[in-house]
Amino acid sequence: MSRQSAPGTRLDPWFGAYANRTHGLKSSETRALFAVASRPEVVSLAGGMPYLDALPMDIIAKVTADLIATEGAVALQYGNGQGHPVLRGHISEVMAEEGIHSHPDDVVVTTGSQQALDLVTRIFINPGDVILAESPSYVGALSVFKSYEAWVEHVAMDSDGLMPEALQEAITRLKAEGRSIKFLYTIPTFHNPAGVTQPVERRAQVLDICRREKILVVEDNPYGMLAFDGSVTPAIRALDEDGVVYLGSFSKTLAPGYRVGWAVAPHAVREKLVLASEASILCPSHASQLSIATYLETCDWRGQIADYREVYRLRCEAMLGALAEYLPDCTWTVPKGGFYTWVTVPEGINTNAMLPRATTALVAYVSGTAFYADGQGSRHMRLSFCYPTPERIREGVRRLSGVLAKEVELVAMFGPHVPGQGRDVHFPAPDIA
Ligand code: PMP
Repeated sequence: MSRQSAPGTRLDPWFGAYANRTHGLKSSETRALFAVASRPEVVSLAGGMPYLDALPMDIIAKVTADLIATEGAVALQYGNGQGHPVLRGHISEVMAEEGIHSHPDDVVVTTGSQQALDLVTRIFINPGDVILAESPSYVGALSVFKSYEAWVEHVAMDSDGLMPEALQEAITRLKAEGRSIKFLYTIPTFHNPAGVTQPVERRAQVLDICRREKILVVEDNPYGMLAFDGSVTPAIRALDEDGVVYLGSFSKTLAPGYRVGWAVAPHAVREKLVLASEASILCPSHASQLSIATYLETCDWRGQIADYREVYRLRCEAMLGALAEYLPDCTWTVPKGGFYTWVTVPEGINTNAMLPRATTALVAYVSGTAFYADGQGSRHMRLSFCYPTPERIREGVRRLSGVLAKEVELVAMFGPHVPGQGRDVHFPAPDIA
């Protein structure tokens, strides 16, 4: 075999040496914009960061200090690749709140649910395999899918989430083309970015289709316990244990800094997930797992989640009120929980092209194009209401209305934005997750 050195470039001598999958990873022009967005004078409606000031920090500090004082040599040691059995037991209890019956043996603890997404994709996807995903879908999942060279087929959703008829149509069409569909990736509750929730009857229909067509369902549910009214919509996993891999996380209900999420999977899949995780990280953080386990055992975590719910309810109310007042020419989804609303702007406006002007006006959002694998979505933007105070949310939307009005003028003068002609920004930064 001849040894050929791959061609490099002046900026990157290793350019030609990267694996094919690396070339799918686009650099982020919005990264620079997000550096701007994190300046204090900018109202950021872009990020998905939980409002950690609502946490009982003194209690958490004590739990952590006690843990290290009494069990430091265990907590700071390597742990089990599948995750600590005690935490897995607690995770089963947490999921029972959403109607999921699971055995702690079926739980795999991961470094955030983002790692669970990576593992599921790694064990199922060959380059070119199809993943069905909502239209739009979670930006961080799309990045993972892209890095494994999957083909993402977006399936239409409406205000009740993924549409079963559209799902069936996509499956029939793709199968007729001889494509290999590996799984449906879905966020049925408080969707990121769409903000909508799928009613339980529709979940059953989606499940029926996937069972009949022998397609695995990957249900991603980090926001499920954040309904503003405290209600719980049963997870898809609650309706089927054999055909669903369920992903959960403590990032939104507690804190993302622990980096603890999990997957619950049918037995054989679980085995593969554990092996893949061990190959990748050996084991999830023992210190984080034991801190959370102790917190769940000794603190009123249900009360703390109820506090979060109230914070987000008030912020969502502020967001919806401000949208009605300042952006009457737009439409938006009305979330019943979670962090986001999905806004549709008037025809002719391109939210990608508008973003630099928005940050100049000291307000930031995520353009809709971030949430599609194929570049569509430029008439949409995701606005998050999780982090800024209600007053800042109102101010942010007020600033946005000025930017939009200006954009309408620009479109009237120069015509609609033509993609690729200098005003575009592409692919999102991970810090907008
Ligand atoms: N899935 C969805 C739908 C999300 O919104 C996020 C974070 N924004 C994640 C997964 C990943 O979260 P984490 O890794 O912090 O658990």
